[in-house]
Amino acid sequence: MSTRLNISRRKVLAGMAAAVGVSIAESSVAVSLGGSKGATASRRRDVIVIGAGVFGAWTAWHLLKHRKNVLLVDAWGPAHARASSGGESRMTRTAYGQDDIYTRFASESLDDWRWLSERAALPIFHATGVLFMFPRVEPFLTQTLEVHHQLHIPIETLERSTLEKRYPQIAWDGVEIALYEPDRGALMARRAVQTLVQEFVAAGGEYKQLSVLPPKGAACFTALTTTSGELLSAEHFVFACGPWLPKVFPDVLGGRIFPTRQEVFFFAPPGGDTRFAPGQLPGWADFNEGDIYYGFPDLEARGFKIAHDRHGAPIDPDVGDRTASQAALQDVRTYMQGRFPILARRPLVEARVCQYENSSNGDFLIDRHPAWGNVWLVGAGSGHGFKHGPAVGRYAARLVTGQSGSIQPRFSLQSKMTQQQLGFR
Ligand SMILES: Cc1cc2nc3c(=O)[nH]c(=O)nc-3n(C[C@H](O)[C@H](O)[C@H](O)COP(=O)(O)OP(=O)(O)OC[C@H]3O[C@@H](n4cnc5c(N)ncnc54)[C@H](O)[C@@H]3O)c2cc1C
Repeated sequence: MSTRLNISRRKVLAGMAAAVGVSIAESSVAVSLGGSKGATASRRRDVIVIGAGVFGAWTAWHLLKHRKNVLLVDAWGPAHARASSGGESRMTRTAYGQDDIYTRFASESLDDWRWLSERAALPIFHATGVLFMFPRVEPFLTQTLEVHHQLHIPIETLERSTLEKRYPQIAWDGVEIALYEPDRGALMARRAVQTLVQEFVAAGGEYKQLSVLPPKGAACFTALTTTSGELLSAEHFVFACGPWLPKVFPDVLGGRIFPTRQEVFFFAPPGGDTRFAPGQLPGWADFNEGDIYYGFPDLEARGFKIAHDRHGAPIDPDVGDRTASQAALQDVRTYMQGRFPILARRPLVEARVCQYENSSNGDFLIDRHPAWGNVWLVGAGSGHGFKHGPAVGRYAARLVTGQSGSIQPRFSLQSKMTQQQLGFR
């Protein structure tokens, strides 16, 4: 990945550097200063971002736009197979009940996703629309409508009779009303993060595949050590390590971020049947009395996607078993029998096991390390973080550069409890 990015960088460096106002000279690669005991030290950067998932990549991008000299590192590569950002597709929606902070974040992020999508050879954003199904009018629905009207974000309610006419391929038992977000849809997750890191490098940022050891130190923290013995110094450090955060900071985050095993399935629609293609079927989530299932149409002919949103068993992101279980497969087939009967017995074409990195209540973590003022913790996407990547990165970059001093209480470390609450965000 590193090599490919460097080639891409050489090609387009000059143009992209101009786009974000960073000089080519500032983007020069690490210079070895030698060092004792096999460790090599490199020149001091403004910021090192550890973790090239969606949060780290967008944070690095926005720091670059602040004219910072930024090194982004990842142990296995941007949006690799075990990263939470490494899946095929992620939903973007603004329906968040009364949690208008996430409605705003998702809304402002969409412009950045559209921008990135335009730069990529293949689409990153598919505007499929998003449909949320409810058995009846519920507080989440009315609060979502209120917030959307206040913020002038388009959203519609669809009654059962309209749903039946518009989407005859769905069985509507138990659903009386739905929210429809016409402007939202699917983000191609892995492609999005990898494209963004290419853009970051092309614009003068530096990316390296390096595994960082858990930081140690007393009053101040000035340099990272990598597993290959490099010492990397910087003024600021942003740890955006997703589900690995509790391992990197066991004292601070052990027991405060809960990685859970999540299984995702893709099914082949019948040959020649376009009823489950984008344009005919939107992205969807079925509130189902709080036991939520969600999915996507047959995006890029990959198959109809479905997952159960319930938090799975705890998982270690390094060694957790990535084989999908028969129980979870049977669970989604049983659900499909009721809601998507045409697909319930269709062939499974792909299954993936990923992990949510949940905070106690589903709110993100974007705060300083309690001991080191120049170390920032960014994570706890909690199963809904992807869509917010651009806004999270912008917010984190403003904190790191001192352009914003106030930590949003909901994102504070202090608000992250050791008892996990279940619930939808
Ligand atoms: C099945 C599933 C479905 C989801 N659906 C949606 C959805 O529909 N919509 C939505 O908005 N969100 C969704 N999410 C949530 C979203 O994908 C995550 O919140 C988001 O991707 C988290 O990104 P991250 O950058 O925090 O973590 P990650 O993507 O995991 O990135 C962290 C990176 O840090 C690196 N790292 C860790 N430790 C080190 C180290 N010591 N040295 C160097 N690098 C290190 C890792 O290699 C990794 O690449 C879903 C998640 C899952 C699993």
